[in-house]
Amino acid sequence: MDTWNPITGCLYNCVYCWARNYAKKLAAMGIEPYKTYGFKPTLAEWRLKQKIPKGKFIFVSDMGEMWGSWVPKEWITKVMNVLVTKPKTDFLFLTKNPGRYSEFLDMFTDNMLLGATIETNRTNKLSMAPSYETRYNAMKNLNWKHKAIVIEPILDFDPEFVDWIKDINPELLYVGYDNYNNKLPEPTLDKTRALIDELRRTMQVEARNLRKAWFET
Ligand code: SF4
Repeated sequence: MDTWNPITGCLYNCVYCWARNYAKKLAAMGIEPYKTYGFKPTLAEWRLKQKIPKGKFIFVSDMGEMWGSWVPKEWITKVMNVLVTKPKTDFLFLTKNPGRYSEFLDMFTDNMLLGATIETNRTNKLSMAPSYETRYNAMKNLNWKHKAIVIEPILDFDPEFVDWIKDINPELLYVGYDNYNNKLPEPTLDKTRALIDELRRTMQVEARNLRKAWFET
């Protein structure tokens, strides 16, 4: 999957954020907008004029939170005004604030997959993002046919988690473990496999980086 980053940066401060660390590396290499703005929310306006290839599946703004409550509506509208002119490219959005999608429902087109990250249904203090339950409710009530859910990095969950995902009924579901040795409170591999098997009965699931939990021998 290709990426395109017109809006970068994020304020949720998740302890396992890989993008924040990657932004530091890019800043050290002199790459904008990270060199000037670091991981502060930014509209990289020049990127709105970049060529977007046809026939690709493009993840929009993987280097930040395009739908954060702090992002001005004007920034998102500028990005959407570019995307609606690209009917031959497929786009994935991904957010921890999916309630914000409802502000832009009239701008989404059939080639746009609206995604949310929901790592668990168990409360924790690993992030300042909206609660898992808030995200679940927003995605369940989202009036859009093309939805995606990303359970990554997967965190240990309670049994009702499977019902949450079924209620949302995403077109595509990704499940994967933390890649960066953060020693998160993750489920055992058997528990994750059981979740995937159950969900595969009713939806397409892509499993990535499946491995034993760090505390399993
Ligand atoms: S929401 Fe995503 S970009 Fe923002 S801090 Fe968390 S992991 Fe990083």
